[in-house]
Amino acid sequence: LHVVHIAVEMAPIAKVGGLGDVVTSLGRAVQDQGHMVEAILPCPSQCRCNLLTTTTPTPPHVVVTSCVVEGIRVFFVDPHNGFFHTDSVYGRNDDEMRFDFFCKAALEFLLQTQRQPDILHCHDWQTAHVAKAYWDDYHPFGLWKPNVVFTIHNMNYGQRKIGEAAYYSQKFTTVSPTYAAEVGGHPAIAGHGHKFMGILNGIDPELWDPAEDPWLPVPYGAANCEEGKAAARAELRRRLGMNGWEDKLLVAVVSRLTGQKGVPLIKHAAWRSRDRGGQFVLLGSAPDPRVQGEFNALAGELSHGGDAAFCFYYDEPLSHLIYAAADIVVVPSMFEPCGLTQMIAMRYGAVPVVRHTGGLRDTVFDVDNDKARAAWEVAGSTDPEADGPTAVNGFAFEGADAGGLDYALNRAIDAYYNDKAWFRGLQSRVMGHDVSWCRPAVQYVDLYYAAIKK
Ligand code: ADP
Repeated sequence: LHVVHIAVEMAPIAKVGGLGDVVTSLGRAVQDQGHMVEAILPCPSQCRCNLLTTTTPTPPHVVVTSCVVEGIRVFFVDPHNGFFHTDSVYGRNDDEMRFDFFCKAALEFLLQTQRQPDILHCHDWQTAHVAKAYWDDYHPFGLWKPNVVFTIHNMNYGQRKIGEAAYYSQKFTTVSPTYAAEVGGHPAIAGHGHKFMGILNGIDPELWDPAEDPWLPVPYGAANCEEGKAAARAELRRRLGMNGWEDKLLVAVVSRLTGQKGVPLIKHAAWRSRDRGGQFVLLGSAPDPRVQGEFNALAGELSHGGDAAFCFYYDEPLSHLIYAAADIVVVPSMFEPCGLTQMIAMRYGAVPVVRHTGGLRDTVFDVDNDKARAAWEVAGSTDPEADGPTAVNGFAFEGADAGGLDYALNRAIDAYYNDKAWFRGLQSRVMGHDVSWCRPAVQYVDLYYAAIKK
């Protein structure tokens, strides 16, 4: 198959959140199965890439440059009018017009360079217009017949455009089975349910690999998890100016600070961790100045004494160090299409404490969940904590309030204090939980073939 991703984010060169990770890591996983994968992106001014090499034949008024990112050939659409020379990928009043233009330019580029991919895989509302523009402007003339697969990474944005893509695409997906069930009744989706499914995201085990991670002081695997994590904790404390004389429980959050991510609960987790004798580290910033102000105040209250640190910026290397250093990573989202942070946390031996919504429900199985234990017993395993796709691997809660979070976070903290050896064992076990793209990539390839057969 020849698959072309059309997206506005791609890690690490143009990443705002999980979408960027998914485009890169899904692309690589499908490529590893022997298919040809390329990507088309807008070329933003802050594009973190200094390898732009080739200039390719272009549509009028648009320069297309290209480079290889993490093994994937990427084409950057750069209109002469500087449409994408902005401070951030999103957030301008003319976003819809700019991204619609990008979609058309991407199609025009494919046509002019006579690329005829089997699948155009579009991501989120920004590239939803590809499906409609193709049917309106190209298909009637029988120029070329790609199959459009559309993936919803977040239903909260651009619902009208998502509705269009649901109508015009051959297949469309979202990023976890539970989120698919949660949003399946939405007017933009209902009626197209026969071509809609949830496929769980994974993470790239090479890009997130504590054994090979250049940002860690001591690389580690499950066997020397304790040593590697202790070194990371010491390094993080040194770097953030935190109290380091006593090796305390370290609780972390790496997240955009938006309503979706459970702002009041993140703040509550900071207080609870500190009050229970642990330390708290946050990496993330709020696009809303009012929310950022709340976190500035929190940082003012908690940072003195050296048991809390707040980093209100984007820092990929620091995020690696934090995942490695953390004993617990908290993800208290109000809704979460899939969530990558809990999976990255597991890969780095940090125990996830999550609210059971969307993909968090599909990836984190509570150590005290009788059903999970029962499933293991039925499956013939005598050890409910053994490795496996649904092995218990963290702490979860249902409610959307501080009491709900306390239910899970306190159990995790108790487990840490009551039986350190068991907790350290859990940390090295969660490292073995399969969070890779192996299974989901096969599901996507099956879906691509199904889209072609339609
Ligand atoms: P979303 O896409 O909704 O932001 P995900 O959990 O799917 O949430 O993905 C978040 C990704 O962004 C993860 O790779 C996480 O490590 C990363 N991330 C979030 N905030 C920051 C930050 N301030 N610095 C570095 N990485 C960040």
